[in-house]
Amino acid sequence: MDDERTSRARSDLVDHLRRTGRIHSSSVAAAVEAVPRHEFVPESARDRAYEDRPLEIGRGQVVTAPHLVAQMTELLELDRGHRVLEVGTGSGYHAAVMAEIVGPERVFSLERFPDLATRARDALERTGYGDVTVIVGDGSLGLPRAGPFDRISVAAVAPSVPDPLGDQLTDDGTMVIPLGPREGPHELHLVERADGRLERTPHGRVRFVPLIGRYGFER
Ligand code: SAM
Repeated sequence: MDDERTSRARSDLVDHLRRTGRIHSSSVAAAVEAVPRHEFVPESARDRAYEDRPLEIGRGQVVTAPHLVAQMTELLELDRGHRVLEVGTGSGYHAAVMAEIVGPERVFSLERFPDLATRARDALERTGYGDVTVIVGDGSLGLPRAGPFDRISVAAVAPSVPDPLGDQLTDDGTMVIPLGPREGPHELHLVERADGRLERTPHGRVRFVPLIGRYGFER
C-alpha cells in the first residue's frame, strides 16, 4: 500500500466512524487519521487494515476493531498530558492512537505475551511512537511503579474490575473495561473514581478476548 492509498483509506475510515456515531471529537478523529493501522498488523492482513473489523495478530489475539478503539478512546476523554495505562498491548495500535492525543511518553502498556510485546514495540518505534512504554506482565495487577494513572484502558474482558486497577486511578480518574463471563455476553463499562469510590456505567454489548491473570480469568 502506498502512502496516498493508506491516507485515503484512513480518511474514509474516519468518515465511516463519524457517520456511525463512534467518533465525535476532533482529537479522536485526528488520532485515527494519523496512526497507520497497516503498520500494526501482519503483512498478510495489510490490505484489510482499514476495514472496520478486528484482525488476527498471532497467539490467538486480535487488534481491536476501529469502531471499538474509537468508542473506548472517546469514552476516556483524553487530554494532552494525561498519564495513561493500557492493559493488553496486542499490536500496539490503540496505544499509538492514545499516544497521539496525550503524548507517547505518557502511555504505559502491559502485554502478557513477550513476542506480541516485541512486535508492538517495533511497530511503535517504526511509526514514531517509540516513547510509549511496553512492558511484559500481568496487566490485571496494573503498574504501581508508574502510577497513578488519569486514564486506564483495558482491552480484554474481566469478570469484575480488578482491584489494583481501581487503586491505581487518580481521584477523578476514569477507566474503560469490558466486563462479563469469559464466554460472554460482554459489556463495555466506563468506571469513574471519585472520593475513593468507583462508579460504573454500561456502554453497550461488545466482544473481547479474556483478561488472563490474577484478577482476570485462569489460563
Ligand atoms: N489494544 C490492542 C491493540 O490495539 O492491538 C488489542 C488487544 S487484544 C484485543 C487483547 C490483548 O490483551 C491480547 O494481546 C492479550 O494477550 C492481552 N492480555 C490478556 N490478558 C492480559 C493480562 N493479564 N495482562 C496483559 N495483557 C493481557
